[in-house]
Amino acid sequence: MEAATELGGHAHYPRLFTPLDLGFTTLKNRSIMGSMHTGLEEMPDGFDRMAAFYAERAAGGIGMIITGGIAPNEEGGIVVKDEQGNPAFSASKLNNDQEAQGHRRVTDAVHKAAPDAKICMQILHMGPLAYNDQLVAPSAVRSRIAAYTPLELDEAGIEKQIADHANCAKLAQRAGYDGVEIIGSAGYLLSTFLVEKTNQRTDQWGGSYTNRMRFPLEVVRRVREAVGDDFIVIFRIAAMDMLQGGMSWDEVAELARELESAGVTMISTHFTWHESQVPTIATMVPRAAFTGVTHRVRNEVSIPVITSNRINTPEVAESVLAQEDADLVSMARPMLADSQFMRKADAGAADEINTCIACNQACLDHTFNFKTTSCLVNPRACHETLLNYNPTDNPKSVAVVGAGPAGLAYATVAAERGHRVTLFDASGEVGGQFNLAKQVPGKEEFHETIRYYKKQLEKLGVDVRLNTRVDVDTIAAGNFDHTMVATGIIPRQPDIPGIDHPMVMGYIDAINGTRPIGKKVAVIGAGGIGFDVTDTITHEGPSAALDIDVFAKEWGVDFENHPRGGVTGVEPVVAKADREVWLMQRKETKVGRGLGKTTGWTHRLTLGRRGVNMLNSVEYVGIDDAGLHLLIGNQPRTLDVDTVIICAGQEPLRALHDELQARDISSELVGGAEEALELDAKEAINQASWRAAMI
Ligand code: FAD
Ligand code: NAP
Ligand code: SF4
Repeated sequence: MEAATELGGHAHYPRLFTPLDLGFTTLKNRSIMGSMHTGLEEMPDGFDRMAAFYAERAAGGIGMIITGGIAPNEEGGIVVKDEQGNPAFSASKLNNDQEAQGHRRVTDAVHKAAPDAKICMQILHMGPLAYNDQLVAPSAVRSRIAAYTPLELDEAGIEKQIADHANCAKLAQRAGYDGVEIIGSAGYLLSTFLVEKTNQRTDQWGGSYTNRMRFPLEVVRRVREAVGDDFIVIFRIAAMDMLQGGMSWDEVAELARELESAGVTMISTHFTWHESQVPTIATMVPRAAFTGVTHRVRNEVSIPVITSNRINTPEVAESVLAQEDADLVSMARPMLADSQFMRKADAGAADEINTCIACNQACLDHTFNFKTTSCLVNPRACHETLLNYNPTDNPKSVAVVGAGPAGLAYATVAAERGHRVTLFDASGEVGGQFNLAKQVPGKEEFHETIRYYKKQLEKLGVDVRLNTRVDVDTIAAGNFDHTMVATGIIPRQPDIPGIDHPMVMGYIDAINGTRPIGKKVAVIGAGGIGFDVTDTITHEGPSAALDIDVFAKEWGVDFENHPRGGVTGVEPVVAKADREVWLMQRKETKVGRGLGKTTGWTHRLTLGRRGVNMLNSVEYVGIDDAGLHLLIGNQPRTLDVDTVIICAGQEPLRALHDELQARDISSELVGGAEEALELDAKEAINQASWRAAMI
């Protein structure tokens, strides 16, 4: 199929825009929107919201969409019960005709928005990671990250699971989907049959690798039988599961070949189990880090192979295809960040793409906290029926003071709607605190958000006035109809005796490197900024995010020899600065507990491996030439440090707003200037976008 396809002749991305003929149907290009649970699946108006969400992406040029995972039965999903034992929340499943009806709204909307786009439904049986009291698995082995121990399937139970997969696929077909993706990775049911640690059976479903492959292969055969030949069936394998004792390369290759024989249309490569201790999509993972593994899988089969993970620009997608690492490129989070990704790439306007920065803050962190998915850089994601930037019929002249994330979002949304916007910033560049964040090793993607906003300001004709510290007179002279104060924050200066000692500095100086930092450092405050500062000052050498070899060493992955799971027997080797660091907080909780649900562990592990001393329950007594004096559980302790860096949170910078009020000039506050506590960029952009959508 692939070999016979000519390059599409696209001026910018010839491979990305080459159609793929599958025999019974054709994909219009090589882009796939990867599966993401959005939280809409379970909402009362969820199908309508999903219809709008996916239709917008189809209209935006994506070749094929894979939906969020839908369970084939109750035991494969999530059922939370109330105190009386009645189901209070059930994750979406598809195992009867009634449940198929809502899906029809989604498939119709997608095919109407783009008749040449495809949509496949992901069948996700969570197996031992399911959250219900009937969860099942090949063996009663509880995952490190699971809530319950699963029930071991008996022969009849196994037959039921297979039949439910086939039934689910058939129902998806009837609901108008172009295909299904069966997830056979991540620690979900099918993958747990493949790995010895989770499959301890001695019958025909366990023991030898042939027996361990039997269940996933039987699921594929029965699904194919149920849906016929002209229906896309994708199988998602863990091409490198990142588990100690996980699948060997030979096992992965054999599974790929067997899947082809069993009738899958394509293989999609996945790179982890949820319980693995290697980050595979976080911001410190290099772009396209794992496509070399897909390349090897592709060499084993003659059907198309899909790659994924940290492919967030059309350039990266094109180069992955040019290297022949894969036939298709799956991008999940980038489609949250910008629904028009492919349309913009097609038009040669890649610099207008709002790039996914791999922060996980509004997508995966929300999913794992049972909140509706969205996107830090695009709060419209999954809110397409609620948040829209419609043209205004009352254009106003608007002053926006402060070009941090809040001011940038406000200015660009207001301008997009037709308001005349003047954006001021005291500094010489837009971005606010993102200009600090982008300097943290592993946060290089933050440059992309600044690039995106700069381009939007230019395109929308916003009058940008940099190096302009705004005061009341500036606003009064401008005669604006509306003023939005987005002046952000000032770092909090804690009230500690000796805080003005010469060894003390703020996080801005520490990150900008404007003052020398000694060899023994105390970091006061262990929030997001305390962690970022500690990471920056303990870091040595190139950033792992920019160098796959450094990443592989730091996280103990052997891409070349592919031992079991890619990691078995490989020790992480951490480069670290010659510096002893204490990172501390007053709270009793574990240091770093407040960090992102899906990324916090990577930061804690990294700093732990660099030997950072993390202290909680501290009381700051004072700072003098001897160092930092503490009380820890009433025990006095002095840290003999030569530098103290303050990362003790932030206070809102509202002076301008207060002065405007005093002069009776109306103004509003947004972002850190309004409320600094727990204010991050996600909240700043979200608030500003909603407010600008309404003026
Ligand atoms: P700011 O970004 O502070 O912008 C305010 C702007 O107003 C500044 O550019 C300032 O120059 C300008 N200004 C102030 N007074 C005036 C005036 N009088 N006239 C003209 N201009 C003025 N958040 C996350 O969500 N995820 C992260 O991973 C993350 N990492 C971070 C890492 C670091 C090192 C830092 C420092 C912050 C990080 N943050 C992160 C926090 C995030 O950057 C802030 O929450 C966000 O920038 C707040 O946006 P804002 O627009 O309200 O304020
Ligand atoms: P933060 O997360 O609120 O952390 C502030 C830290 O300072 C806490 O550890 C707090 O712990 C300590 N602190 C507060 N008041 C203090 C005082 N008076 N004296 C001494 N210590 C004090 O804020 P931040 O680190 O400044 O970050 C600002 C915002 O940016 C936050 O919303 C954060 O989420 C966001 N951010 C996010 C990321 C990310 O990766 N997602 C990275 C950077 C920043 P104790 O009170 O226990 O001492
Ligand atoms: Fe990407 Fe962050 Fe948006 Fe998630 S929240 S899609 S990781 S930019």
